[in-house]
Amino acid sequence: MKIGFIGLGNMGGPMAANLAKAGHDVTGFDAAGVTIEGVTPAASAEEAVKGAQVAITMLPNGKILRSVADQIIPAMDKGAVFLDCSTVDVDSARAVAEQAQTAGLSALDAPVSGGVGGAQGGTLTFMVGGDEAGFNTAKELFDIMGQKAVHCGPSGNGQAAKICNNMILGATMIVTCEAFALADKLGLDRQAMFDVVSTSSGQSWSMNTYCPAPGVGPSSPSDNDYKPGFAAELMLKDLRLAQEAASSADADTPIGEAAMKLYAQFVEDEDGLGRDFSAMLPRFEKRTRN
Ligand code: NAD
Repeated sequence: MKIGFIGLGNMGGPMAANLAKAGHDVTGFDAAGVTIEGVTPAASAEEAVKGAQVAITMLPNGKILRSVADQIIPAMDKGAVFLDCSTVDVDSARAVAEQAQTAGLSALDAPVSGGVGGAQGGTLTFMVGGDEAGFNTAKELFDIMGQKAVHCGPSGNGQAAKICNNMILGATMIVTCEAFALADKLGLDRQAMFDVVSTSSGQSWSMNTYCPAPGVGPSSPSDNDYKPGFAAELMLKDLRLAQEAASSADADTPIGEAAMKLYAQFVEDEDGLGRDFSAMLPRFEKRTRN
């Protein structure tokens, strides 16, 4: 397949490389001039998508996505698929999809989970919003870049699934960390706490798979001095997107809001920047209030 790939950063770079390795004809563009082995460099975003059956974007935020969409949509062939894999606000995802459809394209919003390791290993999960025809065209690309693609419904629903999932993740990580800090104060051994909770009704991915207590449970960033992993500032970005969506849709999300405020404090006022999002545990050990 002929593919144009815009945004060759930490995630987009390895995703584009995997598509090229699988034999697809990939042309790439990144504003920072990044080049990737096996990917033909283009001088502009428009040039990268010219003649492509699928244009993939992997960009930092909704504002940048909207500006790149303005550039590439007029340059794409009718019937081609505009596949955005960035994590952006639901409103931007729906606006760009509408713009693409008006120009005769298929549009998909397909944010991912799995992080840089998943992008490199081709094991990402894609949460996909958009039309069935576009999904069917992109399916073979999802199978190369990832191990699972869930079609969640019309445009914007991929982003909706992503931010709902990450709102749950942020909130469960916080409460798991505060429970460990409370258990410490109550004299409960961390291993005993893990053995009970991971097999009881308090279990979650945060406890069972990504335990924030070092030396307890499967290996996780806590065992590597809380080096990310999934950085606290990226969690903050996703919690902010969830709150934007909640306010735009008039949904009541008090725990999601509290989680966002706590990660904002951790990243912006404390020592959370550049640390894994599970470093909330050492934060609670220090008992920082407010
Ligand atoms: P990144 O900053 O490493 O990459 C983004 C790239 O986009 C950069 O190389 C930048 O130069 C390029 N870019 C910016 N503006 C551009 C423009 N106008 N035209 C062309 N290129 C432009 O970020 P990343 O970690 O690769 O993340 C990309 C997206 O994936 C984000 O939306 C992020 O939230 C999401 N995501 C990241 C992770 C992760 O662990 N890093 C996990 C899941 C989802």
